[in-house]
Amino acid sequence: MEIKYIDIHSHLNFKEFDADRGEVIARMKEKGVATITVGTSLETSESAVALAENHDNIFACIGIHPTEIDEITGMTAHFPRQHFEELVKRPKVVAVGECGLDYGREGDIDEKSKETQKILFRQHIDFAAQHDLPIMIHTRNSAKDILEVIAEKKKEHGDKLRGNIHFFTGTPEEAQAYFDLDFTISFTGVITFARDYDAAVLAAPLDRIMSETDAPFVAPLPYRGKRNEPTYVIEVVKKIAEIKGVEEETAAQEILKNAVAKWNLVW
Ligand SMILES: [Zn+2]
Repeated sequence: MEIKYIDIHSHLNFKEFDADRGEVIARMKEKGVATITVGTSLETSESAVALAENHDNIFACIGIHPTEIDEITGMTAHFPRQHFEELVKRPKVVAVGECGLDYGREGDIDEKSKETQKILFRQHIDFAAQHDLPIMIHTRNSAKDILEVIAEKKKEHGDKLRGNIHFFTGTPEEAQAYFDLDFTISFTGVITFARDYDAAVLAAPLDRIMSETDAPFVAPLPYRGKRNEPTYVIEVVKKIAEIKGVEEETAAQEILKNAVAKWNLVW
């Protein structure tokens, strides 16, 4: 199939798609959309890989989301290394994550929880560097610490440490700090209905930007409030093009080209 758009972060493996996943994937194929489907636990990492292996236009990312820590081990960071060593050998695995730091709505979680999350985050970074894979980072009210951990780990891993800040909602300055560390940023459907990120979209060079949906969450206009799906990434690309004042086709081609290179996508 011809791929024209890329949604670099979806959870097509989640239960929200159990009833009609085949139809969702058929729509992707019809519109030329590919996606990286992202694990947030051991279980959903496995289901992401299984799904990717059944479809040319689906790739997988394996990791433990920082908010999963509680559920898994009751505040002890646990990285399922042995399982992941097995999973990472599968050819459709293109990245490690989503991993990172989630300091909650107010950014006011306690220091011990922050430290536990940092341990798990560093384990993902080391694992990704060992396997020479990019990482998919989740950050919520934690940009300062994310930048600090990446900068510290850069000294150890050099160019092998690279990746993307998913669901970027920061300032142009914050975006630049990530670019300086060899990271890209991805925008979601939020940019279709909130004007707060136009400055960041405008300032970021096209070769540093990725498009994503984070489906089933946060559908873009005109689907706002409904379940999101990878095909809706077309609306995100349209908006990026509009904000930057470039042709939609140019934006789509550039973004796809970047993604293919950075995530080493082959289909
Ligand atoms: Zn996600």
